[in-house]
Amino acid sequence: MPLQLPADLSTRPTPFYLYDLGLLEQTLAAAADAARQHDIQVHYALKANSNAPILERVQRRGFGADCVSGNEVQCALDNGFAPGHVVFAGVGKSDAEINRALAADIWCFNVESAPELAVIDELAGAQGRRARVALRLNPNVDARTHHYITTGLEANKFGINLADLPQVLELLARLPNVELVGLHVHIGSQITDLAVYETLAGRVNELQQWFEHRGIRLGHLNVGGGLGVDYHEPDAHLVPDFDAYFGIFGRLLQRRPGQQVHVELGRSLVAQCGTLVSRVLYVKESQQTSFAILDAGMTELIRPALYQSYHRIENLSGQGPERLYDVVGPICESSDTFGKRVALPETRRGDVVVLRTAGAYGEVMSSGYNLRDKAPAVYLG
Ligand SMILES: *Cc1c(COP(=O)(O)O)cnc(C)c1O
Repeated sequence: MPLQLPADLSTRPTPFYLYDLGLLEQTLAAAADAARQHDIQVHYALKANSNAPILERVQRRGFGADCVSGNEVQCALDNGFAPGHVVFAGVGKSDAEINRALAADIWCFNVESAPELAVIDELAGAQGRRARVALRLNPNVDARTHHYITTGLEANKFGINLADLPQVLELLARLPNVELVGLHVHIGSQITDLAVYETLAGRVNELQQWFEHRGIRLGHLNVGGGLGVDYHEPDAHLVPDFDAYFGIFGRLLQRRPGQQVHVELGRSLVAQCGTLVSRVLYVKESQQTSFAILDAGMTELIRPALYQSYHRIENLSGQGPERLYDVVGPICESSDTFGKRVALPETRRGDVVVLRTAGAYGEVMSSGYNLRDKAPAVYLG
């Protein structure tokens, strides 16, 4: 399916984010089907993209919400997610955020440390409530992805290390206002090697046995998210292989009777439906390099600058033989570079250049640095 652009593109100011809602629906349907086959519940990670038209479609599929801030919890509730389908994760939840989530009676807090557990207990007690918690454990599984988006190793700030778990359980037993309902792991993002998830499933089984040996039955197993997408050839894999992903957990997790299995997907649900559309402001030729300077920059899409990540760049207006360009933004930072030595057809001022696979961790990370305007969102379908 070639990239569709709005008919009024010639008059529409750039940059803007373009979302293909048809592709989003196709992706959500594929994920929902695969999840249903294996009786797995999906919580959508709002931090990937929290635009209302996207949340509305995610919520209509029956997915829950995985939130990492008090504002995300509020956003999920405002967009129709039932409190009973909201989980709240994050390594640094503030008292105000915890209080709001308690008052909304969300389904579960994914707790990342002993001190956080004690604070949730205290705040829940003050509200006369009992908080449901899952312990986020650091399973020490290497996601084999970029180190900035690796979260499941003991050196990372996330989760409770296994060596600390006995103490956390002792504490838990003494706290009257928290109830342990599950186990949570999340090892990283943009995971393309599915063997990593096989290892993770095995580790979760071991962790479950560890709890059961101590007489603790877990109501649910939450294996987190992180399923990767194809940034290099988006058109070849517009919809990720959800059958393979859910199949691994369906097959390998040792589920107890009545036990729920949850996943938290962000990127894989929304990345391919989003495109950043820009125009070329100038082509600057220097001795070694031709720079294509876009009107979009790291303020609209920071992933290349932040994680050295790759986005496919296409010139939709250019014709003729390809040349190599360094494709850069207008921001006063050298890291404001979308790609070096990118093969594009002969490129001129005014050409429409798009950055593909930008629906996840794109618009949500945009900033006003250099006092830039916020790029609007445009929806197709
Ligand atoms: C970010 C995050 C996710 C989603 O990760 P994706 O790579 O976008 O699927 C899931 N769970 C937690 C706890 C997260 O922080």
